[in-house]
Amino acid sequence: MQVTAIAPQEINHRLAVFERECRRKGLRITNQRREIFKAVASSRQHPSAEAVLLSVRRTLANVSLDTVYRTLSTLEQMNLLTRVGTSSKEHFDGDLRPHAHFICTRCGEVYDVFVPQTSNSWEPQMLPCGKVQHINLQFKGICKRCNR
Ligand SMILES: [Zn+2]
Ligand SMILES: [Zn+2]
Repeated sequence: MQVTAIAPQEINHRLAVFERECRRKGLRITNQRREIFKAVASSRQHPSAEAVLLSVRRTLANVSLDTVYRTLSTLEQMNLLTRVGTSSKEHFDGDLRPHAHFICTRCGEVYDVFVPQTSNSWEPQMLPCGKVQHINLQFKGICKRCNR
């Protein structure tokens, strides 16, 4: 699959939002949290906790998988990341724009699916049972690469 890299300005923007939100919510910005967030925010691959651990090992020498996982969960609770669960693995997403995911049932790859800007179906709505705060839409199928 051709994965286009995230532009450095976009990564800097995500880090700026991260720091602003941490300050606003009173979450201390530790080097560990920043590096773990950056690992997710600078990847389009929707990395798992294991993949995040591999990429932060260079900068955070003694970090454990458990710490990475707990930090990711904290950041998710603060709405700084989202979690994309598949049947086999949990993936983390630093792109907070409304989008859906296509999950390949063969290779497990998670692809972003953006709906046209004209659609207002992503706006939080009132449903008979309550107010929508987050939409988590997943498509499952066989990706182009596996289908070849
Ligand atoms: Zn696939
Ligand atoms: Zn995504």
